[in-house]
Amino acid sequence: MSIDARLRERAARVVPGGMYGHLNAALHGSGYPQFFVRGEGCRQFDADGREYVDLMCSWGPIILGHRHPAVEAAVAARLAEGDCLNGPGPVYVELAELMVETIPQADWVMFSKNGTDATTQALMVARAATGRAKVLVAHGSYHGADPWCTPSTAGTTPADRADLVEYTYNDLASAEAAAARAEGPAGSDVAAIIVTPFKHDSFEDQELAAPEFARGLRALADRLGAALVIDDVRGGWRLDLGGSWEPLGVRPDLYAFSKAMANGHPIAAVTGVDALRDAAQTIYSTGSFWFNAAPMAAAKATIETLHAVDGVALMERAGTRLREGLAAQAAAHGFTVNQTGPVQIPWLSFAGDATLEKGMFWSSACLEEGVYLHPWHNWFVSAAHTDADIDRALQGTDAAFARLRARFGAD
Ligand code: PMP
Repeated sequence: MSIDARLRERAARVVPGGMYGHLNAALHGSGYPQFFVRGEGCRQFDADGREYVDLMCSWGPIILGHRHPAVEAAVAARLAEGDCLNGPGPVYVELAELMVETIPQADWVMFSKNGTDATTQALMVARAATGRAKVLVAHGSYHGADPWCTPSTAGTTPADRADLVEYTYNDLASAEAAAARAEGPAGSDVAAIIVTPFKHDSFEDQELAAPEFARGLRALADRLGAALVIDDVRGGWRLDLGGSWEPLGVRPDLYAFSKAMANGHPIAAVTGVDALRDAAQTIYSTGSFWFNAAPMAAAKATIETLHAVDGVALMERAGTRLREGLAAQAAAHGFTVNQTGPVQIPWLSFAGDATLEKGMFWSSACLEEGVYLHPWHNWFVSAAHTDADIDRALQGTDAAFARLRARFGAD
């Protein structure tokens, strides 16, 4: 029996279901290991010692590569002095200053721990500022795992979501219709419109935001007197260090960040505009570990390194090489595939594969060939993926396409 299987058996006795949430390997497809013991650059090693080229980057947090020396040195220095103290360290101010310098939208920053903290905190600020309740949210968008947003309704009540009004991503008319449904006797009851920088729903091809949709949401929020919130938890730091809609020239009132901002260390942040500063001061929002110094030091080192090495350009280069390589391989093996999303946060699906039969088979074959990617969730490229690493990954994906053809035949 493998070490992974033995650990799963033990976990099943002492943890409900053995494992829960997004990292539950039972959801990922056949052969996916549950337990990992080491990461190095763009490689991960599972509990049985198998090595993978890592194209999931721990589902986003790893952006400079596992155990990046500058980040780990900054963390070690903080840990040596004390991480969880009676107040934040000077690094709290330094990191907030760095973020305000880096993100043109940001006049101020508030820190927390997970992406869900940041999206929830952003909505609290918007509601405190407007005194309104409703939030326009795109159907199917993931904003975290609190009762208001978790995709499964088990353990939640209808009241938890009563103030959400759904629109369709990239459909401005649907957002306007949602706003109309959120009219109260005293006019609009919309506190915020929340949107991800591109559509990255699980199980679906990704969609970039149409510029007119982005501009239209900004105008709609202004017209309603509501806050525009960009949930940049997944896209943040990979598309543009200034915030993911900076290239579109659209600035939100609030950005929510987490995942990649500290290269795997636990921290999240909301950045906001001056007009919301007073409201942000009024909310009570905190946590035992929110002000730990080590993750803040990690975030500062991560952002500085991303600036220094032009991390976005490195990820674009790696992601482009991967996308072009996969396109050539799919064509050579006779498969029609859809590669969607930004190259730094890619995904591949097979045409006509509604049941994901091919996608699941192919990704499990990639895994056996030493490439860790995912059948129904987008992947992540890091700045540590060199051309040679991408070529190694492409060797594995090529072998997986050959196995797929042997099993299903070409299209
Ligand atoms: N928003 C988005 C867009 C996300 O992708 C995620 C995490 N997958 C979250 C919010 C929640 O972040 P966390 O899991 O850190 O709470």
